[in-house]
Amino acid sequence: MNTAGNSSTPSKTADWHALSPDQSLARLESRMDGLSSEEVRRRLETWGPNSLPEPTRIGPVRRFLAQFNSGLIYFLLAAALASFMLGHIIDGAVIAMVVLVNAIVGFVQEGKAEQALRAIGHLISHQAAVKREEQQTSVQVAELVPGDIVILEAGQKVPADARIVRARALSVDEALLTGESLTADKASTAVPAEAALGDRSSMVFSGTLVKTGQATAVVTATGRATEIGKISGMLQEVTELSTPLLRQINRFATRFTRVILVGAVLLFGFLIWMRQFEWSEALIMVVALAVGLIPEGLPAVITITLAIGVRRMAARHAVIRKLPAVETLGAVSVICTDKTGTLTRNEMMVRRVFAGETELQVSGSGYSPEGELSTTQGGLEDAIPAVRELARGGLLCGDARLDQGEKGWSVEGDPMEGALIAFAMKAGLDPERERGEWPRVDEIPFDASHRYMATLHRSPEGGHVVFIKGAPEAVLRMIGKPGLNEEWETRISAAAATGERLLGFAVKRVDDAEDAINPDLLTVGVEPLGLVGFIDPPREEAQDAVAECRRAGIDVKMITGDHVATALAIAKQLRLADEPKAMTGTEVERLSEEELRNAVDKVSVFARASPEHKLRIVKALQAQGHIVAMTGDGVNDAPSLKQADVGTAMGQKGSEASREAAKMVLLDDNFASIVSAVHEGRTVYDNIRKLIAWTLPTNGGESVAVLLAILVGFTLPMTATQILWINLVTDSALGLALAFEPSERGVMERRPRRSDAPLLSSFMLWRVILVSFLFAGLSLGVFFVALDMDRSLETARTMVVNMLVVAGIFYLFNVRYLHVSSFSWRGILGTKAVLISVGIVLLAQLVFTYLPVMNDIFQSRPLSIFELGSIIVAGIGMMLLLECEKLLMRRLGWFDELQGGHITPQPAAP
Ligand code: ADP
Ligand code: MG
Repeated sequence: MNTAGNSSTPSKTADWHALSPDQSLARLESRMDGLSSEEVRRRLETWGPNSLPEPTRIGPVRRFLAQFNSGLIYFLLAAALASFMLGHIIDGAVIAMVVLVNAIVGFVQEGKAEQALRAIGHLISHQAAVKREEQQTSVQVAELVPGDIVILEAGQKVPADARIVRARALSVDEALLTGESLTADKASTAVPAEAALGDRSSMVFSGTLVKTGQATAVVTATGRATEIGKISGMLQEVTELSTPLLRQINRFATRFTRVILVGAVLLFGFLIWMRQFEWSEALIMVVALAVGLIPEGLPAVITITLAIGVRRMAARHAVIRKLPAVETLGAVSVICTDKTGTLTRNEMMVRRVFAGETELQVSGSGYSPEGELSTTQGGLEDAIPAVRELARGGLLCGDARLDQGEKGWSVEGDPMEGALIAFAMKAGLDPERERGEWPRVDEIPFDASHRYMATLHRSPEGGHVVFIKGAPEAVLRMIGKPGLNEEWETRISAAAATGERLLGFAVKRVDDAEDAINPDLLTVGVEPLGLVGFIDPPREEAQDAVAECRRAGIDVKMITGDHVATALAIAKQLRLADEPKAMTGTEVERLSEEELRNAVDKVSVFARASPEHKLRIVKALQAQGHIVAMTGDGVNDAPSLKQADVGTAMGQKGSEASREAAKMVLLDDNFASIVSAVHEGRTVYDNIRKLIAWTLPTNGGESVAVLLAILVGFTLPMTATQILWINLVTDSALGLALAFEPSERGVMERRPRRSDAPLLSSFMLWRVILVSFLFAGLSLGVFFVALDMDRSLETARTMVVNMLVVAGIFYLFNVRYLHVSSFSWRGILGTKAVLISVGIVLLAQLVFTYLPVMNDIFQSRPLSIFELGSIIVAGIGMMLLLECEKLLMRRLGWFDELQGGHITPQPAAP
């Protein structure tokens, strides 16, 4: 399909950077109005899609073999080999089985985890703005062809290699390609043919990020023919399958293994000299105990737990870009969020207009251009000319477009600008005609730090006009008319108190034939046009999500570029706090680092805040010990997104630059999705703790029983082969079920976990030790009672093996709820994963106990109903005991202390 290697690839035919824009267009047989759909289809067939081949994955065979690459496995393989050579064929075979089953489980799990991560990578769609058939539209990046006219803006990722035709203040971050950390300035002027890649300032290259400005460019190469495609391989985003937690576990496992190996050597000596074991017997016993104690399957199961978390988050519209974010999410204690579009619906409508001296109300719904203007003070007729002038400014100084589809009117572009078009139509203007009569010559695009936008138009009455719209303060500053401040301020506070968003409008008439504008031009001669108030209602689900956060001990802070009164009104509607306090960006600027740290906890709303303020706020929160999730959508948000523990970008309105910097992307731009992700993050962490709380004592119990027998010197309750069998059956099948656990009740009623809380908290340690000894006690009890009742040694040992497996199953049900009672319908019924695992394990035990071959291999004996029954009763007894422990812990309030204040519920939100 991909014919990029074809010798007629346009990129090979020319040094595009040395050609003039016109020459490039001609060579590519393209025009500024764009290609026709027919032509695009033809070219797509010739050049193939604009995408890079999937990263070459490691083949299954190599991936399988990689499973054997660990110190422990080498040790086990050596032990198996030794067993075979010493004639212990069965022991050798069982050890080999342990190794094999572990490798298969690891192999399958790793594959699944990778699959889950790859699948969500495709959820975030990459669009590019192009001109085709004389229309500006957006298309999938993969559908671009050489000759396409692309339109680039700050924050976008360049979708293909392209020759700049027109550029305005364009600068591009090309670090990906050139390693140069400074942004490169770009323009349409041709450069010498021999210029190095980093000096080809008339070109933009696929994969680089537009930092500032805008440009129109013609695509010269797509897919593998692009510069980045040529060095592909290095750019493929590696989704790392490792996290801090996983590394911590691996370190723990390595250290633990070392300790055990030293212990094993000592035990070996002890068995030979003190217990008169034959040395081959001693070796097998030592190996069996080591295998029993080492949780070799744990890292693999934890990986799959994380991957399942990623999948569940994706189902709730939160796409994880970096795996570690899954576990960090569970510890989030502050969420800093945008207002517009995240907490509110971003469906704007003009409701109020101040033009000249008159205040008007605007009726209607959505983006439909039907609606009436009215005033309460009268004088509508007199106000019409001023309103029309204001509406024209709103219409022309914007880039949005309204479309009438089957489901009514919708907006393409900035919703606020869309609302202004609807308003202009209500005021009697025809958008097409106005745009035709007042052609745009130049513009200063909107930018979150200066908060205004200006466009220069040729006027049908001769001369030129600049229309300005922006935050009222920003517009006032340009006008500088005495007295206007107070007038606007009273109007702003009246409108903003109801949650309305306000924009100020102004105009400047220039007589001479200016063909470019810059901010300096807007310091004199700017006249006010008026103010417009928009409604943007809060999202309903945001209100519930905020309440959920407050119950979960998570602070929500709104950081917005909007006016303080508007922001505060929305904060109150959403109940961000009982008495939300606000601070403006200017106030943030005045505070020292330390003062900001002290203030930051008490403030819920940061208004008129710019990206630099965001960065300071994140740092201050982190200095206070918080784990911070922060949203951002603009180009300039990248630093704060990187700084935050969970930088979160918007999948719909966000810039590509912010998505690159983020660890998580919200597909629906919705605040509630962040909270769902936190919910899932806490579940993942719970499940990992459950896994550990289950694995360590089940591994420990059997070994403690056998070790006691060796040290005290009574008959061994199990043979080495039987120890290996238990390990084989329970470890691989049962533990895995915990990875699929759904959220425990009340996960969002606990305080956030302390980020520095150790995984093995004192509570966990206590559980591990308690349960290990319970398991050991139970199995030894069964062993001695059976011997006492004149059962054969083989039967007694078979009972011990069954006892340990049954105890493992009951403990699994107990551990499914770490904090609350497991006796509930949900608790007893389990999940599908639990039931399947238990089914497999029970089947394996029946085979072990009753199949004659197994009786020969493992020295097991069939058990009577009475013997089996008493084992199950003992298991139930253990479960009851452990449930009592949970109850006691909860009653005494020890969970809190043992876990660093985990579960104390916050005072509920009103
Ligand atoms: P928010 O945090 O609400 O998304 P923004 O940073 O997008 O705020 O906008 C900050 C302020 O800039 C707005 O309150 C508004 O006054 C002004 N503004 C926003 N968008 C535009 C635009 N397209 N043109 C002019 N001014 C704008
Ligand atoms: Mg915004």
